[in-house]
Amino acid sequence: MPSLRVLVTGGAGFLGSHLCDRLVASGVDVICLDNFFTGSKDNVAHLLGNPRFELLRHDIVHPILLEVDQIYNLACPASPIHYQYNPVKTIKTSVMGAINMLGLAKRVRARILQASTSEVYGDPKVHPQTEAYWGHVNPIGIRSCYDEGKRVAETLMMDYHRQNNVDIRIVRIFNTYGPRMAVNDGRVVSNFIVQALRNQPITIYGDGSQTRSFCFVSDLIDGLWRLMNTEGLTGPVNIGNPREFTIRELAGLVISLTGSKSEIVQKPLPQDDPIQRQPDISLATGKLGWQPSVALKDGLVSTIEYFQRRLAV
Ligand code: NAD
Ligand code: UDP
Repeated sequence: MPSLRVLVTGGAGFLGSHLCDRLVASGVDVICLDNFFTGSKDNVAHLLGNPRFELLRHDIVHPILLEVDQIYNLACPASPIHYQYNPVKTIKTSVMGAINMLGLAKRVRARILQASTSEVYGDPKVHPQTEAYWGHVNPIGIRSCYDEGKRVAETLMMDYHRQNNVDIRIVRIFNTYGPRMAVNDGRVVSNFIVQALRNQPITIYGDGSQTRSFCFVSDLIDGLWRLMNTEGLTGPVNIGNPREFTIRELAGLVISLTGSKSEIVQKPLPQDDPIQRQPDISLATGKLGWQPSVALKDGLVSTIEYFQRRLAV
């Protein structure tokens, strides 16, 4: 039997490259598609000689025809500084990218998994967030290009499913961190680690009492893989680590694990920054048998080791 052919858009990014590793290791053929906006060839350089792996430079706002059995649609900048750099391009990537990938899935009868986000819950008034919550999103703010783009991508997924019977999966990913985040990624975990390793001030936005729940990348990838390969789950599924921390707690943990001399400084809180965030993962636990296994401290240790190597060269 020919092996499964799997397309990973955004495959040279942080999450996409770990997913490519996992897929190649499982023996399937992988096409990694990326426009290298925030991703890098370095993230997949170790896979380039592998006959199961192909790297394709392409932008998903343009259609493409590929013979594949499964599509993981991950292409989209995920860090606020990057998705706000060119907001029109960000929303085009989510909306036109989803249309193009769903069109492809429909034509070649592939199963498609859309990377959605906890940002569809906005600044949530329900805590922790269950998949049934419709969210509290500002449609006209500086985060909207990302949040609303992902909400439309979810809508498109459900409509292609209802109208054209496309086989879909939607994952709402909560804050995930780990090796291969870019040094200039701008999200909180990589910022704090890079600042701590350079003994530069740790920048807390606002008073640091806002919360996030941090999932280590290996747990997240396991969740994506299980969702893609489980039957009968078309609606959105939260994947994240329910253990919630304040941003100030995270800063303290990073300083103690790195032994850094950095001081903490406060910067203004960006507009519409969510106050709290924690996934309810009952659905993933019940239907996928999934739960995270890596504690924040252990995940941070391996992420710190990665950045130590990156900053040393
Ligand atoms: P990332 O920025 O490292 O990866 C995104 C990848 O998509 C990059 O390789 C980038 O070059 C590529 N890309 C961007 N626009 C593209 C386009 N128009 N055409 C082709 N490729 C394009 O971010 P990540 O953390 O790996 O996120 C991956 C996916 O997961 C994104 O869809 C993101 O919205 C989603 N997500 C991530 C998190 C997280 O905490 N990491 C949380 C929620 C959702
Ligand atoms: N944050 C911070 N300092 C930084 C980067 C981010 O205090 O250097 C805060 C940010 O304001 C937010 C939280 O950390 O409250 C998580 O930010 P991130 O950009 O990682 O993800 P998101 O806000 O999209 O969840």
